[in-house]
Amino acid sequence: MKQTKLEWDDELLSKYNISGPRYTSYPTALEFTEDYQSTDYLSCLSQLSDDKSLSLYIHIPYCQNICYYCACNKIITKDKSKAEKYIGYLIKEIELVAKNVGDNKLRQIHWGGGTPTYLSVSQITSIMNSIRHCFKVPNDESIEISIEIDPRAIAIEDIQPLAELGFNRMSMGVQDFNPVVQKAVNRIQSFELTNNMIIEARKHGFKSINLDLIYGLPFQNKETFEQTLQQVIEISPDRISVFNYAHLPHRFKPQRRINGDNLPSAAEKLSIFQYIIDTLQDSGYLYIGMDHFAKPDDELALAQQAGCLHRNFQGYTTHQEYELIGVGVSSIGSINGQYHQNVRDVDSYYELLDQSKLPSWRGAKVNRDDLLRKAVIFELICHFELDLTQMEAIYNISFKAYFENELEMLKPYEKDGLVCISPTVIRVTNRGRLLIRNICMVFDAYMNELHQLNSFSKVI
Ligand code: SF4
Repeated sequence: MKQTKLEWDDELLSKYNISGPRYTSYPTALEFTEDYQSTDYLSCLSQLSDDKSLSLYIHIPYCQNICYYCACNKIITKDKSKAEKYIGYLIKEIELVAKNVGDNKLRQIHWGGGTPTYLSVSQITSIMNSIRHCFKVPNDESIEISIEIDPRAIAIEDIQPLAELGFNRMSMGVQDFNPVVQKAVNRIQSFELTNNMIIEARKHGFKSINLDLIYGLPFQNKETFEQTLQQVIEISPDRISVFNYAHLPHRFKPQRRINGDNLPSAAEKLSIFQYIIDTLQDSGYLYIGMDHFAKPDDELALAQQAGCLHRNFQGYTTHQEYELIGVGVSSIGSINGQYHQNVRDVDSYYELLDQSKLPSWRGAKVNRDDLLRKAVIFELICHFELDLTQMEAIYNISFKAYFENELEMLKPYEKDGLVCISPTVIRVTNRGRLLIRNICMVFDAYMNELHQLNSFSKVI
């Protein structure tokens, strides 16, 4: 698949570099309320028709060590007995949910955290056994089972048993290989360790291997990051995610251990990001969209080409038709377009499950306008193009009349060469792709200045 290169324009990037959502859902999680409760969730589950395919997200909140940049919902502990108790409750939740989903087939399973590999292989096996017992799971390679691996928290010998359990996709955090940066963020992880783990994973049939990087960490500069990126290219993962570090110590306690004086300047960050974009594209990776790159033959790139790329809480994903169920603390699911999130703390989680209740915290009952705007935003963020005629046919609207204000708001973007608008199509240009969040924000009915300033990271 050919892709023309992204256009980098310093002036425009500075002009539009405001804060904005990453649109892993619409409405964003900020709009979730406690009006949505387990009864709503149960009614969504029971309304699933029997021919639906399901995707299951499992959240394991435990980590052995703290990474100072972390903004995830996790529990740092070396006391492994805590995980044992959690597993018992997780299995109870899986059983409760599965009872309500009818005859639907599970096609995708994703393990995230925290650190899923904080659990031993035998603990992971007991959860997988429960999933296979409770859900209809195809007994062949058609099911995608992915796991976030921390190479510091798994023995290389454990890769084979994971493959035998059915795991066939993998994502691994790297962030930066530079020892000074690693020390400053308390994550010491050598190139050799990472590389050996990936060689082993490939040997056992893992596909779509992803590495995560972060730019904007303390002591990073373009020169230090050049070496990290060259090492990553040498590993040759199928996908690379590059995240912008947002230093928000008032919101995320671990970040208080990072001295703000050691962070790269805004200009240095931009130059690292430009280097990443140029280098990855020159090395044959395609820019999928917001922070994500993939080789042309990777499933993400193929899904984008086929027009079926989707977004959910794990970022970009294939198979937009799958309904998503989340289990474990803080996990989020989406059924029939409605969103549901579990309680965030383990004590409340245990308490609700002790009463045989689903551990619901909050969610969003979406209306028709939400669904329409979600379709527009996800189409733009996944495919950089919106077929207005198709939207009109599906939603029975006149696009021009329904989105009169939004089309007006897009005019400056058109003038700056970020979008091309015709009566039938809105197309994001190569110059506009890096600013896709801004373009999506135009269609976000919940967007206001307060949200932007207080809740989201910068778009670049
Ligand atoms: S970045 Fe990942 S491994 Fe590190 S503390 Fe956060 S969740 Fe745990």
